[in-house]
Amino acid sequence: MEFHRHDVVIVGAGLAGLFAGLYTSREFDTAVVSKVYPIRSHSGAAQGGCAASLGNMMEDRWEWHMYDTVRGSDYLGDQDAQEIVCREAPLVIYECEHLGVPFSRTPEGKISQRPFGGHFSDFGKGPQKRACHAADRTGHVQLHTLYETCVKQDVRFYSEFFTLQLIFAENGACRGIVAWDLRRGGMHVFHAKAVLLATGGYARAWKVTSNSHANTGDGLSLVLRSGLPLEDMEFVQFHPTGLYPSGILVTEGARGEGGYLLNDKAERFMERYAPQKMELAPRDVVSRSIQTEIDEGRGIGGKNFVHLDVRHLGEAKIMEALPQIHELALKFTGVDCLKEPIPILPTAHYSMGGIPTNTQTQVLKNSAGDIVEGLFAAGECACVSTHGANRLGTNSTLECCVFGRRAGISMLKYLREDPCLPDLPQDAADQSIERVEGLLESKGSESAAQIREILQSTMTEKMGIFRREETMKECLAKIKELQERYKKIGLQDRGRVFNTELMEAIELGSMLDFVEPIVVGAIARKESRGAHFRKDYPKRDDQNWLKHTLAWKEGDSIRLDFKPVVITRFQPEERKY
Ligand SMILES: Cc1cc2nc3c(=O)[nH]c(=O)nc-3n(C[C@H](O)[C@H](O)[C@H](O)COP(=O)(O)OP(=O)(O)OC[C@H]3O[C@@H](n4cnc5c(N)ncnc54)[C@H](O)[C@@H]3O)c2cc1C
Repeated sequence: MEFHRHDVVIVGAGLAGLFAGLYTSREFDTAVVSKVYPIRSHSGAAQGGCAASLGNMMEDRWEWHMYDTVRGSDYLGDQDAQEIVCREAPLVIYECEHLGVPFSRTPEGKISQRPFGGHFSDFGKGPQKRACHAADRTGHVQLHTLYETCVKQDVRFYSEFFTLQLIFAENGACRGIVAWDLRRGGMHVFHAKAVLLATGGYARAWKVTSNSHANTGDGLSLVLRSGLPLEDMEFVQFHPTGLYPSGILVTEGARGEGGYLLNDKAERFMERYAPQKMELAPRDVVSRSIQTEIDEGRGIGGKNFVHLDVRHLGEAKIMEALPQIHELALKFTGVDCLKEPIPILPTAHYSMGGIPTNTQTQVLKNSAGDIVEGLFAAGECACVSTHGANRLGTNSTLECCVFGRRAGISMLKYLREDPCLPDLPQDAADQSIERVEGLLESKGSESAAQIREILQSTMTEKMGIFRREETMKECLAKIKELQERYKKIGLQDRGRVFNTELMEAIELGSMLDFVEPIVVGAIARKESRGAHFRKDYPKRDDQNWLKHTLAWKEGDSIRLDFKPVVITRFQPEERKY
């Protein structure tokens, strides 16, 4: 076993983790631990853009952005966090620009902006161009620029290290992590004054998903296993346009640039569901519309997909603004979108819930807002509740930048107070050693790959866009059964060097942990709000459910608690698009 000591340990090298590292490394010794090579983090897949009310193409204001975000969130977002994200958006975009992010430009040389679903001008009235982008490779260029800057600032990267456990001191403060070195094998203990979780999304628990293989929610599992809660887990976003059948993403930028949706009768069916905003209504609305068309037999040829047509944009526009979409459609469906419409279906995409934090990114341990000293969280794994019940496109890379930066500043402040760093207990890594050795020696008859496949299919079938009590209960029973089967898995590969079977088995353990609060929270929430749509309770119920869910793992079950939503500027009203 090897020991390391740093002032800050950041778990996750996506936009959130790197933005934080950029700040802490200015004054303190900073390490970033990542299970994939940093620039392979999922942020690199973000295509469409990063929202900010720069007003480069038309008048815009942060208040309009905030109104859209609040309404998009179906009033479940905390408005203090939503105000921060919209107010600080221009600041982080200009910071990215000055670091060297090569945004697309207008003819006058300003950062180019394009329309995205749910973003409007003048408090929801007119169209808006708010998404700053670099063609359709926005996350890729942001991630590379941040990584290079962190390298320049001597951030120490531990790439391909899998974090297995958080370490707490006797007073409950977080003081480090334990990680497995995937490349060489072997356990490592990282001792630190501050730990940031920036472990990203977790839609890999679904079969049809836009997420990368690494998005298995390990950070959430670390928190649950430490006796801490998760917030609003029932809210999982289905992006309207995943490639059929895999779910690989076609950016909303394609609709922003003018692409539209067609059913089997060649109808632009969004006229029925969102007559004013059409394809640029928020994602929950468009996804439900597509699924309804499919369920009612108007999918193409009666099948499980509809068409996204961009042909009318012309070759020059497609190759300039959507080159990656052209390439992805060609490679993964064999469709040349210059000549044919793209087959698409909704795909599990983004998780609004996660590790509860305050606006300073400190992790919360209860509904009273008490914090866990030394532990911070930011990015998709966190729930500061910018997105409430439904996220607007381009607000996520933005949140990662705004709250990643805030996490850096928060940790700087904390470290300047020079928190004590007691010696770690000798047995700090025992639990992780037992887990990995147990798996390496496992001789059980169950296959992790098979359990994962059943879990993903079950989540897609029973925890999709439309939910019902009965099917959710079936889903929960299946999860319980799979958790039991997981205890009896056996690995074929007993090697220690780059044992991907071992890694996937641990990731499956993470998924089996965090899917339970998703289903339990969804069964409890007897209303429809944003991405959580129940056929048996189709109306939003502000009287009883204008509140956040907190979920703890206690023994074999999940305990729920609730906390109020922060409302400052905008009172809840009916959403119409
Ligand atoms: C296909 C796609 C397109 C998108 N397009 C957009 C867009 O255009 N605009 C927008 O705003 N949003 C977009 N999003 C959402 C957005 O990209 C993500 O929410 C955001 O990038 C997440 O960043 P992050 O820093 O939180 O995590 P990630 O970038 O996912 O990084 C997570 C990091 O955590 C590390 N990690 C995880 N578990 C462990 C562990 N156990 N041990 C060590 N390290 C670990 C990983 O190695 C990785 O470095 C898109 C999402 C998808 C899936």
